[in-house]
Amino acid sequence: MTTSKTIILGVLALQGAFQEHIEYFNKILETNQDEYNEYNIEITEIRTKDDLERCDSLVIPGGESTTMSWIAIRTHLLEPLYDFVSSGKPLWGTCAGLIFLAKELKNGKMHQKILGALNIQVTRNAFGRQLDSFSTHLDFSSFIPNCTDFQTVFIRAPVVTKILSVSDSDTSKQEEAKRSLSPPEIIRSLNTYNNTAPVEVLYSLKNVDHHNHDLIVAVRQGNVLGTSFHPELADDYRFHKWFLDEFVLKNVATT
Ligand code: GLN
Repeated sequence: MTTSKTIILGVLALQGAFQEHIEYFNKILETNQDEYNEYNIEITEIRTKDDLERCDSLVIPGGESTTMSWIAIRTHLLEPLYDFVSSGKPLWGTCAGLIFLAKELKNGKMHQKILGALNIQVTRNAFGRQLDSFSTHLDFSSFIPNCTDFQTVFIRAPVVTKILSVSDSDTSKQEEAKRSLSPPEIIRSLNTYNNTAPVEVLYSLKNVDHHNHDLIVAVRQGNVLGTSFHPELADDYRFHKWFLDEFVLKNVATT
């Protein structure tokens, strides 16, 4: 008799579009049963330290990053989240989730906390009013096989404004941030973890602003994925399947 390996994929359920992520992953498992029959994959909502400690991987949904941070503080989940990030297990943040995973944040609110899983600076609400929310089809085939036409939904989305070097994540800057009484221009994560994998830019939107800048909207750093947009609102499961196969299951296979 073969025993299947149990994998717990958690979705942070403090706030935002967590239900959609859960539905997408469950749909993948339902429609591709043969492919996953050597595993017992459980998709579950995460609200407490105990929930988090059971997880092999965590997805942080879109929503409102300031509210998410506030609820995490109020429910004593911030430290457990720092610990989870430091464990190096696979993580994926979409939109507000990308903000929460960053090491530096521009346009954040006073007392807003971020987890420091990705060595990037993110700017909140980075698209001008006209582009506040929009949907567009993008070609992701350079990293998801055959995915040439994926509907992306951007809702008051952040963008990655800087890839950080090791010297940017200096702890004296974190100490300075702790002492500051005024809203800092840049919020830095207080988590001391340092992801040592290289940051890969997976996708940039070309020439979208008035200055013809490219805007980075998808990055990967080792086991951690961040997207500015919401694949959980696309009615297309390919992004979720790629995360499950490429991040969650590959990590399980190597640990
Ligand atoms: N603007 C939101 C924030 O700062 C993110 C929006 C979203 O997740 N759709 O958290």
